[in-house]
Amino acid sequence: ATPTALMVGTGRGAQLGILIKGPEVLESTRKADTVVLDKTGTVTTGRMTLLAVHTTEATDETDVLRLAGALEHSSEHPVAQAVAAAAADRIGALPAPEDFANVPGLGVQGVVDGHAVLVGREQLLTEWAMVLPSDLQLAKNAAESAGRTAIVVAWDGEARAVLEVADAVKETSPEAVRRLRALGLTPVLLTGDNRAAAEAVAAEVGIEPEQVIAEVLPQDKVDVVKRLQGEGRSVAMVGDGVNDAAALAQADLGLAMGTGTDAAIEAGDLTLVRGDLRVAADAIRLARRTLGTIR
Ligand code: ADP
Ligand code: MG
Repeated sequence: ATPTALMVGTGRGAQLGILIKGPEVLESTRKADTVVLDKTGTVTTGRMTLLAVHTTEATDETDVLRLAGALEHSSEHPVAQAVAAAAADRIGALPAPEDFANVPGLGVQGVVDGHAVLVGREQLLTEWAMVLPSDLQLAKNAAESAGRTAIVVAWDGEARAVLEVADAVKETSPEAVRRLRALGLTPVLLTGDNRAAAEAVAAEVGIEPEQVIAEVLPQDKVDVVKRLQGEGRSVAMVGDGVNDAAALAQADLGLAMGTGTDAAIEAGDLTLVRGDLRVAADAIRLARRTLGTIR
């Protein structure tokens, strides 16, 4: 394409709410044949709510909310925000944790009111040689089959509760997936969340279960992109989180949600300013038109 066409293309992009890092990005945009979509915050709103608390018989729900809420108050993860908000609603001021640590893709840990507390995926407990008692295991399985995210709360060496959280698919996401498909791209859903929750979201937006890649640790998302590239695909990746930055940089085309973190925006080639996934399809159509492959 001529320099003029490229300028017109990037200018038109800005009008559509697409910020393009440079005209050379249009070429990789045009070529993309696979689009990897991060789940939380990209396909879903990322605003989660706490729907239920399941405790062991000896555990008081207020203690669960106080200890878990205190830890999650220090985390920016959407799951954490749901737990902290529900805890603050129910019990007001939360104690300040000590020795707080974020375990990426797994959860958080720290000391609250003298108790060593863990909040996160079951795998986090396993790392501390703790097991989930059978009543909590049942609650977790039921929550996950319903498409929700189940978070385990443990303190002083024992698992005490399962929290059910969920967020909603963005209204625009099913239409976005339809448009991407209409342009000939294969949509793939990628997430650190459990498989059942991921498949429930996939079904809602029209992605096949075979195209769902779940329970992927943040540092492994980049390997998923590499594997798809190894199959000869030209991969576009759309993400919003700190967790997505490496994968966005690895992808042939990285699209960052403008509503997402600075790390994602810096790693991306394109920014979807309003966080509307439908605009990802507009970007691809624009690139093809600018580079003259369609009229
Ligand atoms: P996604 O890929 O969907 O953006 P993440 O990789 O950030 O998800 O997290 C994967 C999973 O790890 C979450 O679904 C949740 O189960 C767990 N997790 C991560 N951070 C936290 C936290 N602060 N508190 C509780 N659970 C967490
Ligand atoms: Mg995300």
